[in-house]
Amino acid sequence: MSDIQQLIAKIRAFRDARDWEQFHNSKDLAVALSIEASELLELFLWKGNEDANPDKLKNELADVLMYALLLADKHGLDVKQIVEDKMKLNNEKYPVEKAKGTAKKYNEL
Ligand SMILES: [Mg+2]
Repeated sequence: MSDIQQLIAKIRAFRDARDWEQFHNSKDLAVALSIEASELLELFLWKGNEDANPDKLKNELADVLMYALLLADKHGLDVKQIVEDKMKLNNEKYPVEKAKGTAKKYNEL
């Protein structure tokens, strides 16, 4: 079992011990992920770019990752594979020779 699979198994065990799977439909997992991403954003609100509290940053980032993993698990997705597939697409959209050193979107390169 990979590290990611072990992590998902731990999150699942936490969820199942509390009988929370009944609440974890795809829509609500996506909503929860977005809310946690907003909580992550809030840590930067009215502060400098690098001034978020490191402990709070870890906690909110973990919340985002856990909901993302639960959503992937719900859909039977292989997290490593979908990230690798997306990286391949990103490599095609952002070839180094065009994208290096610029923050432009792919359609503006
Ligand atoms: Mg949170």
